[in-house]
Amino acid sequence: MGYVDLHLHTTASDGVMSPSEIVRYAKAKGLQAIAITDHDTIEGLEEGLSEGERIGFEVIPGIEISAVHSPGSMHLLGFFLDIYHPLLNERLGYLQKARAERNPKIAEKLSRLGIDLTYEEVLKVSGGGQVGRPHFAQVLLGKGYVRSFQEAFDRFLKKGAPAYVDKFRFTAKEALHFINEAKGIAVLAHPNTLGMNGYSELENLLVQLVEEGLKGVEVYYPEHSVSEVAQYKILAERYGLLLTGGTDYHGIDKNSLDIGVGRGGMKLPYSLVENLKAARSRS
Ligand code: AMP
Ligand code: FE
Ligand code: FE
Ligand code: ZN
Repeated sequence: MGYVDLHLHTTASDGVMSPSEIVRYAKAKGLQAIAITDHDTIEGLEEGLSEGERIGFEVIPGIEISAVHSPGSMHLLGFFLDIYHPLLNERLGYLQKARAERNPKIAEKLSRLGIDLTYEEVLKVSGGGQVGRPHFAQVLLGKGYVRSFQEAFDRFLKKGAPAYVDKFRFTAKEALHFINEAKGIAVLAHPNTLGMNGYSELENLLVQLVEEGLKGVEVYYPEHSVSEVAQYKILAERYGLLLTGGTDYHGIDKNSLDIGVGRGGMKLPYSLVENLKAARSRS
């Protein structure tokens, strides 16, 4: 039994590799299966799934949706989605529209800060998929306005920074609804970004999300400490939730984080996928 990576981004959102490239890369790295989980879009899935079929490699159709939450951020993963489901496609279309309205505003803010950058340049680096803040960061870096990708976020793009523009988000309840309607298995991504004050606050949130259709928790994640992993596992098991894990690989810097292994020895067994499949056939 091999290893898996159930959280990956492609050029369809803010990753660097195209869906077929990431599928081939995962196979070359010796993984047994991956899930493609682009932000707010399933546009990369047809390509990823057919490349998987072509080369004989298991690809799980997934997504990552940002939901309304404070003080931190809440991301919900969906696995084994029916990518042709009308409600899913309608809701994602709405997110695309909101994003298309936000992006030029970021470009405007940057211009007003005296930065020589056009939205066309950002479109060009986006690789034809959905445009997001990482693409702005790439242009800022390319033009020498910042020395690193991270500096672009810290100085300009992150929440509270001078070129930040918020965009529409669904509530968790709404996102969980359309993930479930589209036969997806909904999983809370990287709980450590929620900004919860202690594990009992997280537990209360989890109870509510389960009521709204949550089926699992992304326990294994490069940014989770050993004790966070242990606590998330306890909470997930307490509520009969599935465990998942992935690297959130965007392909930006292979040296610091790579597919499958994360920042070191991440090893996620194929049984995580088997459990997802068992849950899917039960529902
Ligand atoms: P967007 O969906 O266009 O608002 O961009 C969000 C993406 O930007 C996330 O998926 C991350 O890849 C990246 N991102 C968000 N916040 C930060 C940050 N503080 N530092 C680095 N990358 C970030
Ligand atoms: Fe991202
Ligand atoms: Fe995320
Ligand atoms: Zn992600």
